[in-house]
Amino acid sequence: MFTIISSGGLSVDIFNKIQDIVTLNRVSRDPAELYCYSYDASYISSSPDYVVMPHSTQEVSAIVKLASQYHIPIVPRGAGTGLSGGAVPISGGIVLDMSRMNKLQKIDIPNLQVLVEPGLIHARLNSALEPYGFFFPPDPGSSEMCTLGGFIANGGSGMRSVKYGTVTRYVLDLEVVLPDGEIIRTGSMTMKSASGYDLTALMVGSEGTLGIITAARLKIHPIPKARKVVLAHFNDLEAAGRTVPAIMSQGIVPSACELMDSTTIQALNIYDPGLDIPECEALLLIEVDGTPCSIDSDAVDIANCCRALGAFDINTAGSVSGQQEIWKARRLVGAVMTRLYPDKTRVYIGEDIAVPLSAIPAMLKDIRSISSRYNITIMTYGHAGDGNLHTGMAIDILDTYQYEQLKQVADDIHRAALRNGGTVSGEHGIGCVREAYMEQEHGRGLDVMKQIKKALDPHNIMNPQKVGLE
Ligand SMILES: Cc1cc2nc3c(=O)[nH]c(=O)nc-3n(C[C@H](O)[C@H](O)[C@H](O)COP(=O)(O)OP(=O)(O)OC[C@H]3O[C@@H](n4cnc5c(N)ncnc54)[C@H](O)[C@@H]3O)c2cc1C
Repeated sequence: MFTIISSGGLSVDIFNKIQDIVTLNRVSRDPAELYCYSYDASYISSSPDYVVMPHSTQEVSAIVKLASQYHIPIVPRGAGTGLSGGAVPISGGIVLDMSRMNKLQKIDIPNLQVLVEPGLIHARLNSALEPYGFFFPPDPGSSEMCTLGGFIANGGSGMRSVKYGTVTRYVLDLEVVLPDGEIIRTGSMTMKSASGYDLTALMVGSEGTLGIITAARLKIHPIPKARKVVLAHFNDLEAAGRTVPAIMSQGIVPSACELMDSTTIQALNIYDPGLDIPECEALLLIEVDGTPCSIDSDAVDIANCCRALGAFDINTAGSVSGQQEIWKARRLVGAVMTRLYPDKTRVYIGEDIAVPLSAIPAMLKDIRSISSRYNITIMTYGHAGDGNLHTGMAIDILDTYQYEQLKQVADDIHRAALRNGGTVSGEHGIGCVREAYMEQEHGRGLDVMKQIKKALDPHNIMNPQKVGLE
């Protein structure tokens, strides 16, 4: 679509222009390669016209200047593990594959921070920090695959955000290439700053619509001395939901508080019978960290709280290997749902709503009633400590009726979340799959977002048709 562009009577070959900036093996318009960049981990797909793999901020800046000059859409991409179509080039144009800018540039222990390039894989940062006794706390299920740039651009979080917060809390400074190709820094090396508008916070979660992150300075944290996991089984899903705010209001801040419903437990047991999770309506997996002394007393208080609210079986895992097994199972839940079905064409498609803690039981009840209204199995699990619930259905991708049904079920779930005072995305972002809810969720606030977008990106080249901004 954008191969040759007519500019004031002159024809411009964009491919040649890109080759003037990056070497031949780092730009492609081969249909097979373009196909690989036409999707992420959602069910949306659309092909780019070119894929470019920059090595440096200067190359990114030069490519963006070119795109700006000829009004060519440009879509940054990390690892493509996003679940909302964020990295899918809906309007074609250039996909900037940031995965080659993947260096860990500096570990700065005295200042409790690191400097990274955006293509660094999340888990690699933690492996590099471990020998120093430090870690980067936001902990997504996709840690082994996703890039830090994509994670920051999505405003992501994970299992441990209940205590440690989302990625927003850890970004001190970003280097960003703006839609006109200019390079800015948004923050500083300091632990705090009250100097002007918080441009760092604006860029975090902007899903590639305001600029391209080319470097990030991130806060790191010492690894806690000890961790313990409490597993509480319930025969009543809503009772498990009520237990979450009850634990928090005791003054205990768990480092993780995950919920899995009966379908999730069933799928995990089929996947790995060795896990042997008691079949029940809900399982709460609660982790505490701190000193060996504090985790023991927190675990006792949590167990008492769970018992008082109806848990029938409570046990703890203190050993490192026991905890690793539990977390491994938890990370697999999205992938294992398809094990419930014998046919091979099922794919798992999930949602990401979040509600206030006190609304968790009502939201769980709503999900159950949506499930029976459509007579369809919905798996519910997630970061209950943040009120963030993932719902998933495994649909036969060849069955158009099931696909239509999925859309209606997802719509009902999103609207129920908003009715319960929540949001349509706790951590996966809006991309193009949740755009329809932006107005209902943000009202006039969406107009402000549109004005910011227009001010920074007047030609709307930066990841167009995303986040409900058009
Ligand atoms: C199995 C699985 C588990 C997951 N678990 C979690 C979880 O626990 N928590 C969570 O938060 N998310 C989770 N996710 C989804 C999550 O959004 C991604 O894993 C991650 O945040 C995206 O990283 P990525 O490198 O794949 O980004 P991509 O998918 O490539 O891109 C995501 C968005 O960021 C933009 N982007 C990418 N790089 C840049 C850049 N350098 N500058 C500007 N914008 C950029 C893209 O345009 C796009 O809008 C999960 C996904 C999967 C598949």
